Amino acid sequence: MIEYPFETIPEAGTPQQVAPGIFWLRMPLPFRLNHINLWLLEDGDGWTLVDTGMAMDEARQAWDQIIDQHLGGKPIKRIIVTHFHSDHAGLAGWLTDRFAAQLWMSDLEWRRTRLLAGGPDPAWSEDVLSFFHQAGCPGDMIAETHSLWSGYNERMSPTPDLHTTLSDGMTFEIGRQSWQVLIGRGHAPEHVSLYCAELDVLIAGDQVLPRISPNISLFPGDGGDNPLGDFLVTTASFRAQLPNTTLVLPSHNEPFYGLHFRLDQLAAHHDERLDAMAGVCDKPATAYGVARQSFSPDLDGLQSSLAVTETLAHLNHLITLGRINRQTRDDGVWVHAAA
Ligand SMILES: [Zn+2]
Repeated sequence: MIEYPFETIPEAGTPQQVAPGIFWLRMPLPFRLNHINLWLLEDGDGWTLVDTGMAMDEARQAWDQIIDQHLGGKPIKRIIVTHFHSDHAGLAGWLTDRFAAQLWMSDLEWRRTRLLAGGPDPAWSEDVLSFFHQAGCPGDMIAETHSLWSGYNERMSPTPDLHTTLSDGMTFEIGRQSWQVLIGRGHAPEHVSLYCAELDVLIAGDQVLPRISPNISLFPGDGGDNPLGDFLVTTASFRAQLPNTTLVLPSHNEPFYGLHFRLDQLAAHHDERLDAMAGVCDKPATAYGVARQSFSPDLDGLQSSLAVTETLAHLNHLITLGRINRQTRDDGVWVHAAA
């Protein structure tokens, strides 16, 4: 069972306390998923912030209000970014500049953030076009995806040059509490979650979400990677390492109890998806064809492209499991069939 202990959700620009010294912030997002949660932690003579919001005016305005009214005149000393996605990392440069704050990230996430904040280059464009062609997508969808994805860096402020590296198992203090870094994979290459045993609180990032399943995608350039296999390994390791009593602070939806139940649910969800997609491949199918049969037809442009990348993550895992194989047609399109 999942329980949501808080009856109210904070307004953008107004923190809400969720545990001793831990405050919940909400920032707007311009998508169907219309918000992200950030976490502000008391840290002696200043604050530590986890995640930053997307680089957009509504989020900057919410930040102005928080800074003016809710920081008690104390600076944000340290900014921890869980992973490279623009809703998490977008304002990292803007905020570190404003406070001369330190940026703490895992190495792979910092590198990916920097790469994407720099904007698309010709090699990236070629990767995207050939990737979605190989997936069997029609030309108009490929063009729309390329144009949607090209604007990604507009939602990022420039990434700071320096960062303190977070790695798996590392512990450090925020205020008087010790926090442990848990690296998770699948949603992002080296995603950081933070666990405090004394408070029994997990800052989960996007690794565990209560109401939606974290996006697990194969992206252009990922080649033979198996993000879904990686995600399932992390899910099992969180299940083994973390107590079920933990208050989970996720980046989307609301804080919740029921970590083990949710981890089991996520694993079962992907098992079902894998079985269903393996079934579609009884007849040879492109990734686009499998996606069309596996996702709702009511998707916008961005969601349609992510349906294909999610499908490819499942297909790659099925290949790893030996349940299907992939062949390349003469026109370069991948076709998947039961092994
Ligand atoms: Zn994310």
